[in-house]
Amino acid sequence: MPTTRREILGAVLTTAGAAAASELASAEEHDHPDDHDHQAVPSDPTLRVKALESLLVAKGLVDRATLDALVDTFEHKIGPHIGARAVAHAWVDAAYKQRLVTNPVAALAELGIGYAGGGGPVVVVENTAKVHNLVTCTLCSCYPSSLLGLPPLWYKSAAYRSRSVIDPRGVLREFGLELPDDVEVRVWDSTAQTRYLVLPERPAATQAMSEAELAALVTRDAMVGVARVTPKGASR
Ligand code: FE
Repeated sequence: MPTTRREILGAVLTTAGAAAASELASAEEHDHPDDHDHQAVPSDPTLRVKALESLLVAKGLVDRATLDALVDTFEHKIGPHIGARAVAHAWVDAAYKQRLVTNPVAALAELGIGYAGGGGPVVVVENTAKVHNLVTCTLCSCYPSSLLGLPPLWYKSAAYRSRSVIDPRGVLREFGLELPDDVEVRVWDSTAQTRYLVLPERPAATQAMSEAELAALVTRDAMVGVARVTPKGASR
């Protein structure tokens, strides 16, 4: 009779997920080039996810291939390069920038970028020499994932969520971004319906760069507002 959470999860795995269990077993049997220590049983969250997945598949509620396709999409296809493409295009085309700010979903669609986020619009907020925008979600972790990929751990942390609205300049300083006093900081609190994308300032001395080269400079952090874009791409 399993008594601990780990034993219970392990038991669920055994009964409901033979395929998953065999995957785990083979993972444990692989050869190690060094003598590093590793757990005989995967971490609790891994076990929990595998157990849930196995149960859902066993009950016919989800299809394993569909799950794999979803994971592959978020791991390999969706990421900050998507938002960066729109930012770079806005930098080289003033009329497009205007459309991106006023009607983001339609402007994104012009570039073949689909936006899906909570059923509501994404709002694009533009940084200028005098205004710096910072995005947060005080309630949980709402984020424009279809433009930026999965949110980083710090975005979901209680410390960031609370302190970004209480002391945004202090938070930015910890990210290495010191803003002059005459720059206004605007903090945008995301919701399930409304998410935000920061349109960073184009760095100086980038006139000779192509749109693709510009896109390569634009980082996830710059589009969340915790960094600026620099000509070398090391955003600060
Ligand atoms: Fe949220």
